[in-house]
Amino acid sequence: MSRLVLIVAVIFLAWWILRKYLRSIRREKPPAAVPEDMVRCAHCGVHLPRSEGLADNGRIYCSDDHMHRDR
Ligand SMILES: [Zn+2]
Repeated sequence: MSRLVLIVAVIFLAWWILRKYLRSIRREKPPAAVPEDMVRCAHCGVHLPRSEGLADNGRIYCSDDHMHRDR
């Protein structure tokens, strides 16, 4: 009977250590921040993230105004 208790205790301890280990691995990972491409406005040359730029004929602009001025 005492052997069964010992086996259960060892299994529980192994599970507890594994759980703690897996949590520490997850915590070490930095948050998944996707670096974004920086692009230059074809009119004024200011740098901005690609998602904020306005594309026109393969050129990227920082604003509507600069897109129209460059035409
Ligand atoms: Zn611009």
